[in-house]
Amino acid sequence: MENKQITVTSPLLPDLEDFNLMLKEIWSSKWITNNGSFHRQLEAALCEYLKVPYISLFTNGTLPLITALQALNISGEVITTPFSFVATTHSIWWNGIKPVFVDIDPLTCNIDPDKIEAAITPRTTAIMPVHCYGNPCDTARIQAIADKYGLKVIYDAAHAFGVDVNGKSLLEAGDMSTLSFHATKVYNTIEGGALVMHDEQTKKRIDFLKNFGFAGETEVVAPGINGKMDEMRSAYGLLALKIVDDAIEARRQVALKYREALKDVKGVRFFDETAGVKHNYSYFPIFIDAQEYGMTRDELYFKMKENNVLGRRYFYPLISSFSTYKGLDSASDTNLPVATRIANEVICLPMHHDLSENDVERVLTQIVK
Ligand SMILES: *Cc1c(COP(=O)(O)O)cnc(C)c1O
Repeated sequence: MENKQITVTSPLLPDLEDFNLMLKEIWSSKWITNNGSFHRQLEAALCEYLKVPYISLFTNGTLPLITALQALNISGEVITTPFSFVATTHSIWWNGIKPVFVDIDPLTCNIDPDKIEAAITPRTTAIMPVHCYGNPCDTARIQAIADKYGLKVIYDAAHAFGVDVNGKSLLEAGDMSTLSFHATKVYNTIEGGALVMHDEQTKKRIDFLKNFGFAGETEVVAPGINGKMDEMRSAYGLLALKIVDDAIEARRQVALKYREALKDVKGVRFFDETAGVKHNYSYFPIFIDAQEYGMTRDELYFKMKENNVLGRRYFYPLISSFSTYKGLDSASDTNLPVATRIANEVICLPMHHDLSENDVERVLTQIVK
């Protein structure tokens, strides 16, 4: 297996025997969804792990984005980043809201706070930033802008599971934050996600909204959706939570090796550790300066692919470049010069808990000349 395929990610799978024992419990209880015992246990365990007071589980990471916009009665226009997974912008569109793209900061790949104010109009009601690759947004600056204009802030924290800033959870920022527990993420429940909120009343409202708006057997208090996580995936999530710290440590080791080997390669840029930030090593993006490196990003990407090392051009194309969104005024390349450039420079290298030393060597051989 000299040349086995090295994938960009690999799901963190819990112990199968342990999972089977939990499945037996579920089978004998015959309670398979609708806020069962494992669902409640996972919410409690995640509150503790993530150091947040309230969380509501969802069946994926897109419904919490859609539901947060609903719960906060967001309308009109929402300012967001084009450098993300399409679900961020889709959630805005699905609520009949106009997304307004703002360019990113090349040093974090997050929405550039310096450029937010110019995009605010009388119709703007919220900002939806993304902690891209788990890099924390400048939450203080964004909150100051939001306060000045009376805007809500919903963070798409799909990449930021377990990321702390100065010992505090990044999920404390803004009005709400969303998480994704998709198979490809640092922590997964196969499919899954969550909404993090700061008070009990909001938690209650979100719990109603994700269950069709039911507030009891005969009362529907809002036009809700079905976003519930079932018992099987909640049980899986409890087991995955026990091994996620080891997985993050394994990722950290890979990041250390990548950084050490790439630090003197001309034309290859990557992120360093940020002081005060507990990272989750969810991705390892590198940025190729074709002039300096002597090869374009795409040439390197396809060379890697030929050698069975699968990187991912993440995020490329920009959300604003997809045909669905490219007609928007804010989607033009001239409005988004940094995001446009970065989207053409980036490759995420294989990054997961299951990479061997030999795998890491093989990845690096592709890049270091
Ligand atoms: C993965 C992801 C989502 C969507 O999550 P799903 O669980 O796949 O629905 C949303 N935003 C970002 C930035 C993501 O990476």
